[in-house]
Amino acid sequence: MPHVIEPAASARAKCRGCGERIASGELRFGESLPNPFAEGETHHWFHLECAAMKRPEPFLEALAARTEPLQDSERLAEEARRGVEHRRLPRINGAERDPSGRAQCRHCRQNVAKGAWRISLVFYEEARFSPAGFVHVPCALAYFETTDVAARLKRFTPGLTDADLQEIQAELAKPSPPAADASPRAGRVAGESD
Ligand SMILES: [Zn+2]
Ligand SMILES: [Zn+2]
Repeated sequence: MPHVIEPAASARAKCRGCGERIASGELRFGESLPNPFAEGETHHWFHLECAAMKRPEPFLEALAARTEPLQDSERLAEEARRGVEHRRLPRINGAERDPSGRAQCRHCRQNVAKGAWRISLVFYEEARFSPAGFVHVPCALAYFETTDVAARLKRFTPGLTDADLQEIQAELAKPSPPAADASPRAGRVAGESD
């Protein structure tokens, strides 16, 4: 069973990328995976936008296999290709103000200052997304190898205002904080070590 792009038959499925429901009739991406509970395969459903951002390789496969025209396919393909090229981009899960001052940046290993913007990350492992910590906004360039992250932040944190995004854009232009000394207790998060 291949990956599919098809209209949602109902509004029951939730998008694996953002957690929101996919509207009935809206085109959705189904990633084909082995069914863990039975023989055969199952689909994990995504909004097209979320699939392009978080599951770029299988999404591009489905786009390439599609014969009918698809609105926005060039833009979606471009977004997905950026995620293949910059392999950490699909980890972006939104932006928020640090509530505690205790979270450690995955790039520089310094604590994120309370109230400062941080970018939240997820790792995709064993067919699911798991929380994988944060990076400072000024560490985005070093970590993601690009500062072109605004569309992803907005997609996965729909509540971000234009003023929030302007603040974040200004932070993106700042130099990365100096890296703390690596220590064995440097707060590694489960999953990939980098
Ligand atoms: Zn979604
Ligand atoms: Zn940092």
